[in-house]
Parts: sequence; structure tokens; C-alpha cells
Amino acid sequence: MTAELISVGTELLLGNIVNTNAAFLSEECARLGLLVYHQCVVGDNEERLLEAIQQSLERSDLVILTGGLGPTKDDLTKETAAKAAGRRLVTDEHVKQQIAAYFKGREEDVKIAENNWKQAEVIEGSIVVDNKNGTAPGLILELPGEKRMILMPGPPNEMKPMFLDSIGPYLAKLQKVCLYSEMVKVCGIGESMAETMILDLIEGQENPTIAPYAKTSEVHFRVTASAESPEAGKKLVDPVVEELKKRFGDNIYTRREEETLEAVVVGLLQRQGKKIAAAESITGGLIAATLINVPGASSVLNESFVTYSNEAKEKRLGVKAATLEAFGAVSEETAREMAEGVCKASGADVGIAVTGIAGPDGGSIEKPVGLVYIGCRADGKTRTEKLLLRGNRQKIRDTVVIRALDFVRRCIL
Ligand code: ATP
Repeated sequence: MTAELISVGTELLLGNIVNTNAAFLSEECARLGLLVYHQCVVGDNEERLLEAIQQSLERSDLVILTGGLGPTKDDLTKETAAKAAGRRLVTDEHVKQQIAAYFKGREEDVKIAENNWKQAEVIEGSIVVDNKNGTAPGLILELPGEKRMILMPGPPNEMKPMFLDSIGPYLAKLQKVCLYSEMVKVCGIGESMAETMILDLIEGQENPTIAPYAKTSEVHFRVTASAESPEAGKKLVDPVVEELKKRFGDNIYTRREEETLEAVVVGLLQRQGKKIAAAESITGGLIAATLINVPGASSVLNESFVTYSNEAKEKRLGVKAATLEAFGAVSEETAREMAEGVCKASGADVGIAVTGIAGPDGGSIEKPVGLVYIGCRADGKTRTEKLLLRGNRQKIRDTVVIRALDFVRRCIL
């Protein structure tokens, strides 16, 4: 079934608010196996909205509209959708009671504003969906030719629960096929290299499909099969995931949709009963902050060091003045001594250290902007890695965080 989204609201067109409803709904539609080929934003203008609805109904089976269901004059979605469907608006007693109940006990109870009753009007013949978090109900219209229109309120805290509780299950029942998908998250290989490594699989597969999503220094692959049941979908997806495992090996850090790299690192440390400490120069505390994103990180991290200057590297971590003198702060030798020093200073089992040149200034021919050394001390061994990164200051620093966490993961695996 093809679906398209119409987000209604002039404030969306002006850029005053970000269209998070469309992002949420697109993701949910994909989960349900609905094919979303178009989405659009229309201001609070009846003529243009009518045109958009008519065009959408012509080319898609399902049109989902959000916004413009409120009580004010510029809220036109219901009236315009009724016009497009050739139906009238009628008062719905159940919705009227719901509105009265919503206001009961609130300040407005004294007198419900007259225009609130406008929300008790629904499109004739539509299925009314209760709004547990507001006054505008959702509406489902089943139209001739197997077409459907769904209207939902604009505020995300009303729209999302309504979709998850009622609209999603309604749509799931209509779908003859279901989608089954698994995630494979890869780190330490660039996007184009990762894609090239499995290009034959991407190009040769129609069901399941493999969709790559590039993130900072990571690539996530979603393998999705369409089948008559989740079990049948899993049977199609499993061999492809096995093949990805063979090709990417330990570059795969998780296959769980919600799991982050930092959560994997914290989990590994917890299972091994180890503590970690970071010695950060270029990242200025971002590695520690990222680890602390994970609930329960206190079981693996006691303290961390931001040692930005040479003096701090010597004083806090015991990096030798001679090392800094001979090789410089951005060098393999300094990264190594930082990693070893942070373990000594903190008593941690694992020490991760990063030093590099984030730019835009400070680079030279021998040591260009983007040159970074990572050191990791674990199990009595110190390993180092040299990176040559591209991008602006922010991008380089963000990449170092990911690469450092991934380096820890590999060192303690
Ligand atoms: P209300 O009863 O609040 O008027 P409504 O259905 O008429 O609800 P709108 O008036 O269009 O919705 O939007 C109300 C608020 O909801 C907006 O000011 C905005 O904060 C939020 N909102 C609307 N549409 C979106 C969207 N597409 N993405 C994110 N937020 C949105």
C-alpha cells in the first residue's frame, strides 16, 4: 500500500518549527511496510491544501494529514478534507462528551470556549479516534477505490500516542504483508568502503533489501524482508545477516537496533568487571561524556582527565618531558604514555587516550590538521592507532570519540 504525508501549518513552512511529525510517521510507515513516496508541507490555506489532498489521493492509497485540527479559524484540515471527500461535517455526541470531560475540573470549566465545540464536528461516515491528550479527535476516512485519509492533530504529544495506540494497529490490519528487519551496525570502515564490500549483496537483493545509513564514522545496515509473517521474514533475513557478519567480522559492534557504541563498550567493561579512565586532549572530555550517556556508566568509570596542555599531560599523566620534546604532543609516543599514565593515575584497568590536531590552525606538513593518535592500555598491553581525518573541527572531534570508543571495544573484546 502506498502512503503519503501532508503536514499542515504555516509555521512549518516558515521554518519556525521542525517537521518532526513527518519524520516519526515516515519511520512508522516503513515499519508497517507502507511505501511512502511523497510527503509535503502546506500552509493554513484552504485552496492549496485542497489541491494537495486531491493530488495525493490520486497517486496514493493512503493520505495521512497532521495539524490544523484545532479550534481556531486557521485550522482548516477537517473542512478541507471533507470537501475533498465530498462529505459533510456532522456533530459527534461522543466527541462532544469527551471535550466536556477533558475540560472538567480545569480552569476553563467555567465556560468552554465556543470554538472548542467546533472540534466535536467530524467528517460524516468517518471512524473517530479518541485523543487522550487533547481535544481534537483523529479521523479515519474510508473512501471509494480502496483509498483512505487519516487526520491527526499537530502537537506531537497528541499525534504520537494516537498513532501508536490506534492508527498504527488499524493500518497493520490492512497490510497483507509484514516487514521484518534487522540492523547491523559497523564501525571503523568508511561508508563507501563498507558499501563496496557488500555491493554485490546490495545490488543482487530485492527481498530482503539492504539499506545503508551513514553516521559519524559508522555505517548502519538495515536488512528488510517483506513476507506473510515475521517468521517467514526472519528466514529471508537470516542468511543475509550471516553473510554481512562474514564480511565485516568484528567491525560489527552490535545487531541491536537501539544499542549505541558507548553502550556496547560499557556493557563489555561491566561483564569483564573492569574500570576505564580517559585521558583526553583533542576531545576535551567528550569521550567521558559519551560514556556517561549510558545509564549505569558509574560502574565502569570513576574519573577521567582532560589534559589539553603539555603541562597537564606531564603533571596529571606523567608523560615525560623528553617524550613531548622529542616527538611532540601529537605523536604515537605521547598517546602511549597518556594511556599508560591515566591507568596509573586512576587505578583503572583500561586507559584510553587521544591527542590530535582539530584545526583549523595548528597543522603543518608533517603534522596536518586531522592527524590523531589514539592509545589504549588494556590487559597489560598498550596499543596505538594513527588516524588521518578530514572535516572541520567539530567533525574531527566527533569522529575521534567514535574511533576511540571503537578502539577500546576491539582492545577488550
Ligand atoms: P491545536 O489543537 O493545538 O491547534 P492542531 O491539530 O490544530 O492542534 P496545529 O495548530 O497545526 O495543530 O499545530 C499545533 C502545534 O503542534 C504547533 O504549534 C507545533 O508546535 C506542533 N506541530 C504541528 N505540526 C507539527 C509537525 N508537523 N511537526 C512537529 N510539530 C508540529
